[in-house]
Amino acid sequence: MFYPKEFDVIVVGGGHAGTEAALASARMGQKTLLLTHNIETLGQMSCNPSIGGIGKGHLVKEVDAMGGAMAIATDEAGIQFRILNSSKGPAVRATRAQADRMLYKQAIRSRLENQPNLWLFQQAVDDLLVEGDRVIGAVTQVGIQFRGRAVVLTAGTFLDGKIHVGLNNYSAGRAGDPPAVSLSARLKELSLPQGRLKTGTPPRIDGRSIDFSVMQEQPGDLDPIPVFSVMGNVGMHPRQLPCWVTHTNERTHDIIRAGLDRSPMYTGVIEGVGPRYCPSIEDKIHRFASKESHQIFLEPEGLTTNEFYPNGISTSLPFDVQLDLVRSMRGMENAYILRPGYAIEYDYFDPRGLKASLETRTIQGLFFAGQINGTTGYEEAAAQGMLAGLNAALLTQGRDAWVPRRDEAYLGVLVDDLITKGVQEPYRMFTSRAEFRLSLREDNADMRLTEIGRQLGCVSDAQWALFETKREAVSREMERLRSTWVNPRILADVEAERVVGKALEREYSLADLLRRPHVTYEALMSLHGTEGQELAGPGVQDEAVKEQVEIQVKYSGYIDRQAKEVERHAHYENLKMPADFDYLEVSGLSIEVKQKLNKHRPETLGQCGRVSGVTPAAISLLLVHLKKRG
Ligand code: FAD
Repeated sequence: MFYPKEFDVIVVGGGHAGTEAALASARMGQKTLLLTHNIETLGQMSCNPSIGGIGKGHLVKEVDAMGGAMAIATDEAGIQFRILNSSKGPAVRATRAQADRMLYKQAIRSRLENQPNLWLFQQAVDDLLVEGDRVIGAVTQVGIQFRGRAVVLTAGTFLDGKIHVGLNNYSAGRAGDPPAVSLSARLKELSLPQGRLKTGTPPRIDGRSIDFSVMQEQPGDLDPIPVFSVMGNVGMHPRQLPCWVTHTNERTHDIIRAGLDRSPMYTGVIEGVGPRYCPSIEDKIHRFASKESHQIFLEPEGLTTNEFYPNGISTSLPFDVQLDLVRSMRGMENAYILRPGYAIEYDYFDPRGLKASLETRTIQGLFFAGQINGTTGYEEAAAQGMLAGLNAALLTQGRDAWVPRRDEAYLGVLVDDLITKGVQEPYRMFTSRAEFRLSLREDNADMRLTEIGRQLGCVSDAQWALFETKREAVSREMERLRSTWVNPRILADVEAERVVGKALEREYSLADLLRRPHVTYEALMSLHGTEGQELAGPGVQDEAVKEQVEIQVKYSGYIDRQAKEVERHAHYENLKMPADFDYLEVSGLSIEVKQKLNKHRPETLGQCGRVSGVTPAAISLLLVHLKKRG
């Protein structure tokens, strides 16, 4: 039967990609349906209870800058916050939070339930309705048909998912959840390019059986406690908890080695490729054989549970080996395992089959986002979900897709990497993937994206008002620093010399002084005659304005240089490749490059340059050929 309601956008899957996709589409005013296996698992963290980190925190701030939910939900659920790399440059500084798993789900669900234009429905989706080359809806397990003008598929690790613990395996989407087998078969029928990947998770431990007294305590940052969302504040955070550190030892490693003959990874039972940067403990022991010990973080799963997540021992070894290896570590001698660790293999789709909008090239109106595209991580999923959701909404509004550029957002880097290079292993974000990372900082995510989000229609009035107040405050203060000149006589005392480095021999602007290596904004403002008026307006924190001003002034030289570089690249980067362009006709290109480009059909010349094997010389040939075509 057809459900008697038609939707603009249908999102399948209520994980991190699906929830951001549904929220983005609904914020843009489109009638949106979120169809998922189980309403109780909306926003569930399948693996570690933490959000953010280097590269990943950048993505979360970008989602937040465009009105998304992940950062604010983390503010409401975070039980430990830290700024990583706080002593390094601002480009690589990143926020990371431990979340209370239950509070996080609650925060996401309440946003979904209260979002205008959004409807939830609990059912497995088994089929897609496709008419010609256009998707027109989805069909659930019990045959209910939903009509929609665009469908965003975010099935995560569920497509033909298979869980492995030792040499035992069974079908599942993740522990405790069913797999999506029929949908996987249907997608195979649609001839979308597909492969298998795998990921893993550690056993969970009952905190009452851990001896924390012999472990090292690791508190979060407390002065001040960081905040993730521009709409968040410290008052939203629940009670804060520490993490704990223990280590593997030679005995742990011996136990693991002795168990490898029953490891699904090392006996060839698992075929999918796993994440290189999030390896299992058996991988680590194998790859870094000379290392005598690995650090293991015991992370609390929440305020109202005794469950702990031992970060660093993800494993698919048999359960008896898991128990022995856990109990071989200091403080874990009597550990009680609540849930076994496991690996999961699942289908993913080659993201080179997608446009930069995340719409599939072969089926109009069908978008893919999240783990299904070969990525790993909540943050990567949320970022893609938001992009796919808003592009699905734009499609149904008859508007052009929004494609973030590599110099504009990590979101742009992520999508461009996926669609031009594909994935050979689960893809996760790093700051090193961004060539313009000095401009793509966590601290300026709002400055880069909120205005775009507002134009697209996914930033609320309240967030926009806050942003405008902050932007004006930053620009006012920048102007004051540039135009306030300091007379050497005023800054002649000893304290002033300490702050600015040496006695001033002439007049300097405050901006000039702030650019000096060891001069901080705070110290400069403490000097007589340099302090300004109240910086920000209602709701905007002075700290956020000060941070922005300090970074913009201090790094202005580098930032300007990067901006010029971006400008130089812009011409060929954004040059559109005609849809009927035949690469086989371009003389001088190798057969391999011609075939690859003809197969993947990049949308711009910049994207051509990132397809593996395409050299700068090949780009010059393409440019000449494009000019000849006129
Ligand atoms: P998921 O979070 O998997 O959400 C998928 C959603 O779709 C679920 O709600 C599901 O019920 C729903 N769904 C699926 N099929 C259907 C259907 N046919 N009909 C209706 N609903 C459907 N990430 C890391 O960064 N580091 C790690 O170490 C790590 N380890 C992991 C270990 C395991 C065992 C698992 C399962 C995941 C791990 N992850 C890890 C990955 C992380 O959980 C995912 O990257 C992230 O959750 C992906 O988000 P998603 O929204 O794409 O999919």
